Amino acid sequence: MNEPTAMVDLRGIHKRFGRTTALNGVSLAVPAGSVVCIIGPSGSGKTTALRCINCLEKPDSGLIYVDGHLVGSVRSRRGLIEANEREIARQRRGTAMVFQHFNLFAHYTTLENLIAGPRFVQGIPRAAATATAERLLEQFGLADKRNSYPAELSGGQRQRVAIARALALDPQVILFDEPTSALDPELIGEVLEAMELVAAQGKTMIVVTHEIGFARKLAHEVVFMDRGEIVESGPPGEILTNPQSARLGEFLDQILA
Ligand code: ADP
Ligand code: MG
Repeated sequence: MNEPTAMVDLRGIHKRFGRTTALNGVSLAVPAGSVVCIIGPSGSGKTTALRCINCLEKPDSGLIYVDGHLVGSVRSRRGLIEANEREIARQRRGTAMVFQHFNLFAHYTTLENLIAGPRFVQGIPRAAATATAERLLEQFGLADKRNSYPAELSGGQRQRVAIARALALDPQVILFDEPTSALDPELIGEVLEAMELVAAQGKTMIVVTHEIGFARKLAHEVVFMDRGEIVESGPPGEILTNPQSARLGEFLDQILA
């Protein structure tokens, strides 16, 4: 078998929930340092794809590599076997996820949200974790919010904290699942700016979003999913301007209407 060279490499991923096929043979190679935007209608499998990459969901079949390492399973003398909890925790370190609904720790301050993962999951000493967190808060314009609790922040600020928290884990890949879709329109811009800052640091990003302007500006590749499959993909200038499939054409008409 040829060795993967992409930072994230999905090969023939299938996933069903009961009778629902969420992913029906998804293959996708994401080069290191690139930004891939995934678009597609509700229920097309976008979240499930991200959750599989982050080991929150286990594919029924297919292989996932992050930085050349298998995720969710390990090779043994008996062939591929399911990874145990400890192994999954280790594999998960390569990726961090930013969710639609922030998922901050409500009883932690901004600063504590940023240092919890590095300290308790990665075992980084408090002083070092704090220094990294403070640098990130500065960078994301959140220094004055270091002692605020999530309930005291606007939606845009919460999502910027969630993005800084993902970076604090120093992952190779950051997965964004519709990071602006729960926000009031006037708060979307600041979050997109924060994501642009992440891209500028050369992180590999997989972004589920319907912010076509963001995709046009920053994506190296746009992937259109429908009914658990990648229907088409390509550079934003091509795929968003000149869709090849009727399904993508209709989808773009809807979201741009
Ligand atoms: P998207 O993010 O594109 O809206 P999802 O990946 O969330 O799509 O869902 C794909 C399909 O899988 C949908 O039909 C959804 O209802 C189903 N699905 C997702 N997660 C579960 C689950 N935990 N249990 C049952 N069905 C699920
Ligand atoms: Mg989703």
